Amino acid sequence: MIRLRVRLVLLPLGIFLLCGCGNGGWQSVETDRLIIHYKKDSFAEKNLAEVVADYEDSIRAAERLLPQVRLEGKVKVYLHEHLEKLGYARAAAREVHFRYDREFRLTSMHEFLHIFLHRLNPQVPLRFEEGVCRVHEVRTVRAGSGAVQVPLVQLGKRAAPSMWRLDQIFLDHYSSDEEGNLAAAFVAFAMQEHGEGPFWNFYGSLRKREWRPAIENYFGQDIHTVEARFVNFMKRIPDPPGA
Ligand SMILES: [Zn+2]
Repeated sequence: MIRLRVRLVLLPLGIFLLCGCGNGGWQSVETDRLIIHYKKDSFAEKNLAEVVADYEDSIRAAERLLPQVRLEGKVKVYLHEHLEKLGYARAAAREVHFRYDREFRLTSMHEFLHIFLHRLNPQVPLRFEEGVCRVHEVRTVRAGSGAVQVPLVQLGKRAAPSMWRLDQIFLDHYSSDEEGNLAAAFVAFAMQEHGEGPFWNFYGSLRKREWRPAIENYFGQDIHTVEARFVNFMKRIPDPPGA
């Protein structure tokens, strides 16, 4: 294995290490928080300073949202030129994967949030965790002849009213944007109940199958009352623009 290490100074990011490792063809660059992997001659390699700055910004944004979470060790970032999804996280392995090529580069903090949330409580049902990652996000939606930015919480209203149930939100899997956005709507509902501080305590108390007691404890109401209030919350969300 050829191991090449070059020290260089990149202002204002300080010193980082470049390491060309024979690891599945991946090269890597290491910062205080990240080990960023990219392929030789890739778009990422050609724009490495920007890559480092962008992903350092993203993980710092996640840190600001969850300052109580301390990660042990560095997060491994993988930048793919060919990736079907735009990005995904493997939280237990502390890995985030992104599409990063000339046409599209995903650099949002969303995948990093999965790493922080898994560290905070790995027992949270995955659909609810996805909702937390989406609660502050927006998406560009076509409306008439133009385009508008719409909060994903609002897009959650596109889920059929028959889905506005807690057993649709506290599931340990998700496969569609609609499911994630509906979960984001419940997260917004829960955050406005007591504010973000108590919300994170609630988050820490959730368990994959035994999520009902944590909800009753947090809201101080039985599960049916909480669900009825959530349905009212959904009804008050303005219908999102576009189809
Ligand atoms: Zn996600």
